[in-house]
Amino acid sequence: MKKVCVITGGSSGIGLSIVKLFIENNYQVFNLDLSPSTAGADCKSEYRQCDVTNTQLVSEIIADIAKQHTIDVLVSNAGIHFSANIENTSEADLDKVFNINVKGAYAAIKAVLPSMKANKNGAILLMASDQALIAKQNSFAYNLSKSALASIAKTTALDYASYNIRANAVCPGTIETPLYHQAIDNYCQKSGADKSAIHLEEEKLQPLQRLGQPEEVAELVLFLASDKAKFITGSLQVIDGGYTAQ
Ligand code: NAP
Repeated sequence: MKKVCVITGGSSGIGLSIVKLFIENNYQVFNLDLSPSTAGADCKSEYRQCDVTNTQLVSEIIADIAKQHTIDVLVSNAGIHFSANIENTSEADLDKVFNINVKGAYAAIKAVLPSMKANKNGAILLMASDQALIAKQNSFAYNLSKSALASIAKTTALDYASYNIRANAVCPGTIETPLYHQAIDNYCQKSGADKSAIHLEEEKLQPLQRLGQPEEVAELVLFLASDKAKFITGSLQVIDGGYTAQ
């Protein structure tokens, strides 16, 4: 029988690569996202339209999936980036980042736990960031939200270890996705900088002299979800080309 994975934000970037890799590895995948993937035939996930800030809807959709399936894996991946220091972060900005990046994860984890507890098995992956370990400039709300996800991974790991439910945070460095391109576009628009020059600078900042690819993060997530990682829980798994080692 196929294992079942629920993912949020699986229509683009890192999430889409995870969906594709899990399907290739014989998972049935349910993707909760704002809009469906445009990846077409490549992406045979079961799409559920969902804004993860609507905690009631997240809970209803996942409960509905759990009526017919045991949920083996949750990948809480949906997230947004927001560039600003604390003075330039309004309360509304902070709420927006927190509602998507943190409350969305809270809602999804709460919703999968009954199925995982009943099965005495489960793997929960939270898409955090290298910014859960280090701060980056002009990233007040994002830094805070990703640190919160690291804390959620540790707390969930401890509270549900007795049910053989593992929880880990994945901490990617700079990965070339639509979110990355949007962040660079926004920066270039504000500063007048040249995008290709900024992109080159970004690559040079990485010890491996290149950005990460979403497929590389997906491989780590697949491993952490599998029984090969059955002694790994409560951890922050860095995949950043050496950035945080500096
Ligand atoms: P992405 O390409 O923008 O993909 C994010 C996906 O989440 C999109 O499909 C997006 O939908 C969806 N989403 C956004 N808000 C949502 C909401 N309220 N409810 C449901 N779905 C929502 O971004 P990515 O780069 O793959 O990032 C995925 C995760 O990795 C994020 O949590 C991000 O913080 C984290 N991360 C990324 C990097 C990086 O360098 N790219 C590094 C570290 C961590 P729309 O496209 O319709 O908005």
